[in-house]
Amino acid sequence: MHLAILNTGGTISCVGQPLAPMGAAAFAQACMAQLNPALLAQHPDLQLSYLTGLAFPDSASGTLDSTNLQPRDWCLIAEVILRHYTDYDGWVILHGTDTLDATAAALPLLLSRFSAEGFALAALSRPIILTGSQLPLWQQAADGQLLLHPYSDALQNLSGAVAAAQSGLTGVGVFFNRQLWPASRVRKVHTEHFAAFAAPNAPALAQYGIQPQLHAAYWPAAPASPAISLEQPAVRQALCAQLAAVQAGLPQVPVTLFSAFPATFNPALGQAWLAEMFRAGLALGVKGVVLQGYGAGNFPSGHVQQPAAGAMYQALQQAQAQGVVVVGSTQTPQGGVMQHSYAAGAWQAEVGVLNPADLTPMAALVKLSLLLAMQAHHGWSLATVKRLFQQNLLGEMHSVNRLDSRSQPSLLPGQALTALDGSAECVNHPQHGLQLWQHPPGQPRQLLWQALSSNTLAQARRPLRLTLQRNGTLQLSDGQGLSVWQRSGCATQAAVLSLDGSASEGNLALCVYDAASGQWVWQLYPE
Ligand code: ASP
Repeated sequence: MHLAILNTGGTISCVGQPLAPMGAAAFAQACMAQLNPALLAQHPDLQLSYLTGLAFPDSASGTLDSTNLQPRDWCLIAEVILRHYTDYDGWVILHGTDTLDATAAALPLLLSRFSAEGFALAALSRPIILTGSQLPLWQQAADGQLLLHPYSDALQNLSGAVAAAQSGLTGVGVFFNRQLWPASRVRKVHTEHFAAFAAPNAPALAQYGIQPQLHAAYWPAAPASPAISLEQPAVRQALCAQLAAVQAGLPQVPVTLFSAFPATFNPALGQAWLAEMFRAGLALGVKGVVLQGYGAGNFPSGHVQQPAAGAMYQALQQAQAQGVVVVGSTQTPQGGVMQHSYAAGAWQAEVGVLNPADLTPMAALVKLSLLLAMQAHHGWSLATVKRLFQQNLLGEMHSVNRLDSRSQPSLLPGQALTALDGSAECVNHPQHGLQLWQHPPGQPRQLLWQALSSNTLAQARRPLRLTLQRNGTLQLSDGQGLSVWQRSGCATQAAVLSLDGSASEGNLALCVYDAASGQWVWQLYPE
């Protein structure tokens, strides 16, 4: 296996006091001389190439402290990978830990392409592993000589990333402190400990101890068909065009994080600090905002009794009228947003604030920035951007409205798929089986459809498990695995069950698609 090692900077390649990254060439030279013998003794069939051609505009030497990376720099990293994609079997990207979460969320999106319906048109077929460290790999002796830092986590992380790149994973992962994480799910969780990263809402992809424990069930799905794999020159060419469009588009679509904090709202004195800061962002031309609210996603409207009279409500209304996309995230590190749980948060839906489920705020910012930057290239409407934002594309978030035969094939008793606007729910009810409910705002819910007749229900041993098979067959089966209800499919290699549209807009549909082609296979609702 031939791996490319691309050093973007960060502590791992820093020297000096205060720490600053070495140039890419000097770092590569030290690694080849001192590190390669140990790495290659461990992996005799491995070939390692250190790439030094990355040219961040703000760097003379090809590396940066990740504090100084900008969105355009994510594109430059993706461009190097894309340009040399077939020269190497896999990639290890060395990166500063401060904004590693942003690059890790950006690379999977920059190296994929999606239809307006959220089906992959281009997908990674090789591994890309990001890593970094809390202490540098090298320390400099008094005579300037570089020596391996004896207490650093750098060697362990670099060699672990090299091992992870050989695990068979396709897609992007983050290796840190013996664990491999899903890239778009990570957060930096410690400034000092070597366990600096975690994915609070997702399981690890692998754990490296005496033997590696690979949790392949959680790995990013491989391309649904060879036709969309990045092995195909035409697929890479289309991706290059998308990347160029994103690079050109990013400066036109600034997206910002905006945190809630206890602030004075005093209508009598005309004070509304939060809302004024938000409007200042609108005046600067932001095109997207990721609100970091409290807990379940609550945010102060500015008026407790009548949210619509609140200054924040009205500022968000202005944003909506200006076509600015606003996402209602949470500052709580773990768990997802439940926008409708509290009156103190439910008002946001009225002014178009999107629910990001359990995306980290950084992953939300990156996803929104990139979707907006590629909007014109794909000719997407703003409604399409909003829909794609709320849909799980690459494992970056809990899949709200879809089952996928490759990554999330079952709906267990009590679990539900939800329409993206919350207007309907397809629930696997422990007693009644699969049901589709409409949730009209302010009214009792209404049953739209159910899979099982009362006769079948009376005879079935409940609860039942709903499973979507690769060929698109959908089945409700009991605890012994006996099928109680089935609809046969004809997908090729992978299938998706999707609750599309909106009950409020009258275009709700529950359909199965062929994931490889994005083609509709059959429909459960409307019948
Ligand atoms: N400031 C460094 C960076 O993000 C921190 C690190 O790498 O640990 O580049």
